[in-house]
Amino acid sequence: MRVSHEANIGGGYASKPARFLQHTLKGPIYCSGTGLHSGARVSLALKPAAPDTGVVFRRTDVRGDDTIIPGRFDRVSDTRLCTTLSNEAGVSVSTVEHLMAALSGCALDNVVVEVSGAELPIMDGSSEPFVFLIDCAGVVAQDAPRRAIRVRKPVTVREGRSMARIEPWNGSTINIELDFETAVIGRRSIFVDLFEGRFRDDLSRARTFGFLHEVEALRAAGLARGGSLENAVVISGDRVLNEDGLRFADECVRHKALDCIGDLFLAGAPIIGHFHGERPGHAINNRLLRALFADESAWEWIDLDDAAGTRREAASA
Ligand SMILES: [Zn+2]
Repeated sequence: MRVSHEANIGGGYASKPARFLQHTLKGPIYCSGTGLHSGARVSLALKPAAPDTGVVFRRTDVRGDDTIIPGRFDRVSDTRLCTTLSNEAGVSVSTVEHLMAALSGCALDNVVVEVSGAELPIMDGSSEPFVFLIDCAGVVAQDAPRRAIRVRKPVTVREGRSMARIEPWNGSTINIELDFETAVIGRRSIFVDLFEGRFRDDLSRARTFGFLHEVEALRAAGLARGGSLENAVVISGDRVLNEDGLRFADECVRHKALDCIGDLFLAGAPIIGHFHGERPGHAINNRLLRALFADESAWEWIDLDDAAGTRREAASA
């Protein structure tokens, strides 16, 4: 991660190591791309934001006062194909999860995301193009302590064959199990320590995946209009249809981990706890956050350096 340590920090937190401070972008950065479902061309801007802003989306194509959509779990309005956020005026932005994962993986706290349409660009179906943009913009520490959400009690939600659980843990880790009939995926599991800084190398390049019959059904319903072999792994039976194959043998489970990281970052801060998901998806991930925050005794705010789980990181840094 590229973190500036010569940040202009004038306040009372200057003595804290940069990793315990909030971070934003050094400057704005721009790109454009196509929405996966709408097929619409959209412009995207990532801009610096003040401490404690969090991740905030702004629709630049919508007139009026209500163009701001907080990047928070309680603004999630639809999870059927991707994660969609809406504000009280009904202004929405969808497919936020791969950008949220990149922001989480780059340890950013405060960013304004401006988009000229209702859907973020899908780019290549992974988080890597967003990580590249963040690298180009640069990252800077801010004069405010980085806060985290510590899980105090296990919370579990189930839905059909899917399960998601979050439990107390001295660190920020996720473990995912997938079980698909196709030999392309099969039974796979993955364990990720979010404080190890492996997101960029191990997860960011993993692309979204879909099955050919699903893609055909989506197309028939007028969705996935922007979808192609350029921005998704498409599986038919036991075969990958993309000419160059997979980027990793276990690319699909890596992408699930990426999705979960993006969905969980909608908590509004890093989570100190362990996430376990069996066949997780955007819907169950959002239900889990809602269940966690509905129980005030299940979580608490902490300053990140107070978390036991960050001591190991401090010792190895
Ligand atoms: Zn995804």
